[in-house]
Amino acid sequence: MTMSTVILVGWLIFLKNLNKMYDLIIIGAGPAGMTAAIYAARRKIKFLILSLDVGGQMSWGSEIENYPGTTHTSGIELTRSFQEHMRVYGIKIKTEEVASITKKGKKIVVKTKKSSYDSKAVIIASGKSPKKLNVLGEENLLGKGLSYCAACDAPIYKNKAVVIVGGGNSGLGAALFLSKYSKKVYLLEAMPKITGEAYLRDKVLKNRKIGVITGAKVKEILGKNFVTGFIYEKDGNEKKIGVDGIFVEVGLITKADFVKVKKNKWGEIMIFRSTKTHDENLTNVSGIFAAGDVTDIPAKQIVVAAGEGCKAALAAFDYIHRWDGKIKK
Ligand SMILES: Cc1cc2nc3c(=O)[nH]c(=O)nc-3n(C[C@H](O)[C@H](O)[C@H](O)COP(=O)(O)OP(=O)(O)OC[C@H]3O[C@@H](n4cnc5c(N)ncnc54)[C@H](O)[C@@H]3O)c2cc1C
Repeated sequence: MTMSTVILVGWLIFLKNLNKMYDLIIIGAGPAGMTAAIYAARRKIKFLILSLDVGGQMSWGSEIENYPGTTHTSGIELTRSFQEHMRVYGIKIKTEEVASITKKGKKIVVKTKKSSYDSKAVIIASGKSPKKLNVLGEENLLGKGLSYCAACDAPIYKNKAVVIVGGGNSGLGAALFLSKYSKKVYLLEAMPKITGEAYLRDKVLKNRKIGVITGAKVKEILGKNFVTGFIYEKDGNEKKIGVDGIFVEVGLITKADFVKVKKNKWGEIMIFRSTKTHDENLTNVSGIFAAGDVTDIPAKQIVVAAGEGCKAALAAFDYIHRWDGKIKK
């Protein structure tokens, strides 16, 4: 093989790989990821959105009353509006779990269990997922009476008895929502008092269907093929209550184990604003951006996540522009 053939083959391999390279990969299809995807589609860049589901935490919200432009909606309905917006731009989500993100030279390699993708830039919008109780019965009874999503599963419990574990905002919201369907709702809280917003607390305490049990911890979830009840401990005594469903609302964990970037003590990705380029949503690794609940921004809300997704996309576009050797628009 002559020298010129070797150079030609090398060039062809380079061009083939360049062709396979994405401009942007977005991880997560919650409000942050979906907003970033809408902006990417409008810019007509080559991008991919990888996610485990559509809607993220937003789809679990039973009643949403603070998303501007809609006085009252459900998480499922709002997710549908985001999906419809994506459909208009022909955006399709790849249902794959991201396992690792690594920077190799200038390019970023995103690995899932199925594939490996190369990209110029990445936006991490992987949000949070529900914390588990880690008690006996939890694993076996998931989907058999045990749920982490009141908005999704409440209607199944029409005229039945349920327990909500967790007396924070999510737990209070879930208890109120379930009281519309179920004949009896127990609300179990480990602290001496239920927490959450005063407005929600008042509504829960006035609701005659909801029985609040404080200072109590779940020890075991009972049932063979389906939930039949639970055992809890209060003041050193164990008690048993029969229920048909159990909803776990004890908080969330950040989903960013798959990437090595600077994080705070809660595992949230720390984001920065460049004083030089004024780009936002930067991580300490160039080309890797982050948005929404996975980051250290204090407000964890749908409207904020959507706004952060937009900011991250705009910053990524500038980065990709520079990657391509072009001047900032
Ligand atoms: C029960 C409940 C009720 C709520 N109610 C309200 C409300 O009324 N109003 C309000 O403003 N906010 C509410 N929130 C908060 C709001 O839902 C969140 O702030 C918002 O959804 C965060 O959006 P996000 O896109 O950053 O992340 P998320 O919504 O958490 O989405 C993360 C996405 O990333 C995907 N993902 C995670 N890990 C991976 C991986 N390894 N690979 C691929 N994909 C991955 C997930 O599948 C998901 O699609 C509520 C939250 C909960 C839990």
